[in-house]
Amino acid sequence: MTGGAPLGIGVSALDRSGLQEWLAEAGQPRFRTGQLVRWLYQRGVASYDDMTDLPAGLRETLADQLPLARPRLETREVSELDDTRRYLWRLADGTTVESVGLPAEGRLTVCFSTQAGCAMGCSFCATGKGRLVRDLGPGEMVDQVRLVGEDFGLRVTNAVAMGQGEPFANYGATLGGLRFMNDPDGLGIGARHLTVSTCGLVAGIERFASEPEQFTLAVSLHSAVQATRDRLMPALCTQPLPRLRAALQHYSEATGRRPSLEYALVDGLNDSAEELAALIGFCTGLLCHVNLIPVNPVGDSGHERPSDERMRAFLDGLTAASIQATVRTERGMDIEAACGQLTQRHAPEG
Ligand code: SAH
Ligand code: SF4
Repeated sequence: MTGGAPLGIGVSALDRSGLQEWLAEAGQPRFRTGQLVRWLYQRGVASYDDMTDLPAGLRETLADQLPLARPRLETREVSELDDTRRYLWRLADGTTVESVGLPAEGRLTVCFSTQAGCAMGCSFCATGKGRLVRDLGPGEMVDQVRLVGEDFGLRVTNAVAMGQGEPFANYGATLGGLRFMNDPDGLGIGARHLTVSTCGLVAGIERFASEPEQFTLAVSLHSAVQATRDRLMPALCTQPLPRLRAALQHYSEATGRRPSLEYALVDGLNDSAEELAALIGFCTGLLCHVNLIPVNPVGDSGHERPSDERMRAFLDGLTAASIQATVRTERGMDIEAACGQLTQRHAPEG
């Protein structure tokens, strides 16, 4: 279930079990895996030379066979409103990706990318306007989170795969990245504080339901009317709403957890009484929480946000039908760091 494009470079392409296998083949004892993961993702050293408790010969072979290159910071923008920070990283092969850091009341949430670009082409999303450049490796995901924490000088408390890309189109690497974030040898972030947001790839949701960790799931729904959803998210038309609903039902039954449904309100498109009724129908009997977000208008999509009264009416309609729902507050408005505003920008190479 990968995007087919080449995965991360060198050591960043491997998850923990990949590292373990590589070390076993190199004749190393099992405890080396923990040592290596700590150097790579807890201490975040720049070179194998700094990994002082690894034998010199092993360090040389690692440098030769699994090159280590960290994302390099290209640009950083800081919101004057709320200290939200938007980062553009350059990866070892020159590919660029973005991440966002969101500080709030003793928490630091990092929104990271799972792919450079995205193939899904959702009409309202800046990332979707471009194409998929390539999948990211697990190391490239955990590095984004670690480096944002370093920049703030704070422990990262939450991470969300809501940057560029569709995490379940790069399933294995995303899980590998989440596990490094969760790993006590890595970033040590509690599994419940690690969230994957998917556009609704049913096979991914089914697989996610059987993972042992208590990761959190968010699904981008945006409409419970098939024709509207097909218009907003054309690539999802092969995965009709009843199948998505069944996968969510299965997910809740298998895990006991409550997924969030993301719903970006677009004026005159998915905010009508008919859309509200369809959403209530979709959610009734399903363990879920609806997150309403005013759409962030991007490019020439023609999508505008509804008035505050209209959003309030939509929220009240859900609440009256006993559907758990909230309106999500936006962050980093002045630096365009909100959901769907991350683009495949190309900073000059050098
Ligand atoms: N590909 C995944 C995760 C990345 S997008 C997904 O689609 O879920 C992260 C979130 O931003 C998703 O909920 C997505 O629907 C939402 N989003 C994208 N563009 C947006 C926009 N212009 N306004 C508001 N939310 C948007
Ligand atoms: Fe891709 Fe998500 Fe944007 Fe759709 S909303 S184009 S799936 S990143």
